Amino acid sequence: MAIEVKSLAEARGRVLKLREQIEYHSEKYYVHDAPEITDAEYDTLVRALLDLETRFPELQTPDSPTQRVGGPVLEGFRKVTHEIPMLSLGNAYSAEDMREFHRRVKDMAGDDVTYVCELKIDGLAVSLRYENGVLIRGATRGDGEIGEDITQNMRTIRNVPLRLREPVSVEVRGEAYMPKSAFARLNAQREEAGLQLFANPRNAAAGSLRQLDPKIAASRRLSVFIYTLADAGGKELESHSDSLAYVEWLGLPVNKDIASFSNIEDVISYIDSWAEKRKELPYATDGMVVKVDNLSLQKQLGFTAKSPRWAIAYKFAAEQAETIVREIELTVGRTGAVTPTAVFDPVFLAGTTVTRASLHNEDYIRDKDIRVGDTVVVQKAGDIIPEVVRSLPDLRMGEEIPFEMPKDCPVCRQPLVRLPEEAAWRCVNSQCAALVRESIIHFASRDAMNIDGLGEQWVAQLLEAELISDVADLYRLQASQLVKLERMGEKSASNLVSSIEGSKANSLERLLFGLGIRLVGEKAAKLLASAFGSMDRLMNASQEELTAIREIGPKMAESLIAYFQMPTNVELIRRLAEYGVNMTYLQSQDARNLADSELFGKTVVLTGSLESMDRKQASDFIEQLGGKVTGSVSKSTNVVVAGEKAGSKLEKARAIVESGQNPDLQIFDEDEFLRLLQRHGIAGMSGN
Ligand code: NAD
Repeated sequence: MAIEVKSLAEARGRVLKLREQIEYHSEKYYVHDAPEITDAEYDTLVRALLDLETRFPELQTPDSPTQRVGGPVLEGFRKVTHEIPMLSLGNAYSAEDMREFHRRVKDMAGDDVTYVCELKIDGLAVSLRYENGVLIRGATRGDGEIGEDITQNMRTIRNVPLRLREPVSVEVRGEAYMPKSAFARLNAQREEAGLQLFANPRNAAAGSLRQLDPKIAASRRLSVFIYTLADAGGKELESHSDSLAYVEWLGLPVNKDIASFSNIEDVISYIDSWAEKRKELPYATDGMVVKVDNLSLQKQLGFTAKSPRWAIAYKFAAEQAETIVREIELTVGRTGAVTPTAVFDPVFLAGTTVTRASLHNEDYIRDKDIRVGDTVVVQKAGDIIPEVVRSLPDLRMGEEIPFEMPKDCPVCRQPLVRLPEEAAWRCVNSQCAALVRESIIHFASRDAMNIDGLGEQWVAQLLEAELISDVADLYRLQASQLVKLERMGEKSASNLVSSIEGSKANSLERLLFGLGIRLVGEKAAKLLASAFGSMDRLMNASQEELTAIREIGPKMAESLIAYFQMPTNVELIRRLAEYGVNMTYLQSQDARNLADSELFGKTVVLTGSLESMDRKQASDFIEQLGGKVTGSVSKSTNVVVAGEKAGSKLEKARAIVESGQNPDLQIFDEDEFLRLLQRHGIAGMSGN
């Protein structure tokens, strides 16, 4: 994109302005993981700047955003210096750009070039360092030279092996990403909880890995693909494809969709062949990375300040479409928030036909000036969630209707309320049919009470048949009542009753989250449950006791106190308890797995040092699996995990077993312990 300028002075003005804008958006994107503009819009700004800097070389500066990679590191993380810098990639947007890239490569490296094509996974670059086969460090790219130490978070990613097949010392780089399904779920939860949405899976993954609390990262279902062997640890390799094969052999995850070609036209056809197909992948991709395969040619080609000359990222065009808004529909969620949704003429976008997109709230509609009847541009954020990018006022015919938020709830007709600091209008009538229905659906949902088979439709039918009027009624349902419902067979009725029954054993945090107390999300529920141990104690907690827990702020404390002061809520909890719903904390992150956990209820002693994790982390894992960590070995100890240099405790454990005082006491070495964790999905390991 070329900007018309008449003088150097004007160009300078433009350059400064563009840099300022780019810096602003880079910070939003890289530091806060919350971009305000689309990547395509951002890339347009960067290209405009590049264009001016090329035409006016006197305006080039080393600190220009065109010369720099990524963004600064967040406070709060230890910094990691990348001995081998982590660079960005040059971009291509068309077949012609690819041919141009090929010409540049040929000029420096000759005609005989093989290219490797890899999907460009839309996540964030991470670096993993293994010493003697053991994962010792994970880092973000940061500004390319200095990144953030995210080792603890990387260890929670299931396909990151903690130990390689061989005790080699290597450094690999790859992309950490959030699968589309996890992204959609996370954003749905955030929308419901009134939290800011992640713009795309890339930001969601970055936001998750840059959490100081590894439990959050662990709950976000991230994954990794490794695409570079940055330090081969002395291994002789000739090509990039050989190095990927080696990396895979070591036990690291490598994407399967990789192809090699020695002709640039074949590369271009291959890229084209993915333009549509990629949308069916379970993870977001934003392009194709094309790399010179031969490592000595790579060396010969070298690097610019910002990116290697031997690779390029082809960016698929962000797909947008125009359509007409026919209606703005209002739905009432479980918290009473009224959410407007644009309903528009069907358009085909990134693999599916879309007809609706959330408009979030009144302010969003006003800012974008979206009217019923307007032609609008729609796209999918990260290829997944449809969104209205902007309206096109020039195409108005004069009959478009500006949106006005109604004063009353569209379901129960009671007045809506908008709190001063909130964007949402809410229905505050706890008897509102929409609230009741949504709150029961939430209660049964996977992250709350996880009542398998109780989805939206059954909830609606149960309410309609007046078999239930709140969540406690679920626990009185009998199969004989359920079979009377339309399309409910005997088998499904008894299955449903048994999953409702099974949910009684859930740990307290699931119930707490399921009750839908305002501001109390999954994580807060867990903190509260583990801090107070029982519903009774939590109900009697004071504001001071609540806020004494780190991460529970005054607002959440107020909301909890207000909830427990309402007699109807107290009565609901009393009935749940009466029907046998567990009201205590079961010391596990995931009570569902507890029954199967090999460590559930066991007393575990850690002794010696573990190579792959520190003691604190090992204790956390044991507790997640329902085990209790104690300091000394006795005959009531069930498990001893013995690392390097385990001394007297290990001897004592052996003596207890041998003397028959407790023949069932199990002794695990580090490998056995890692395998146990892996069996329970806690940490990944190589396949050996
Ligand atoms: P990039 O995304 O264009 O390319 C480099 C990155 O590609 C690497 O760091 C790596 O993480 C990734 N990658 C994925 N698969 C790969 C593979 N197989 N091989 C090698 N690398 C692979 O560059 P960047 O510097 O990470 O980020 C720039 C991007 O960020 C641009 O697309 C830009 O639009 C976006 N951005 C957007 C905003 C905004 O406000 N919307 C702001 C700043 C940056």
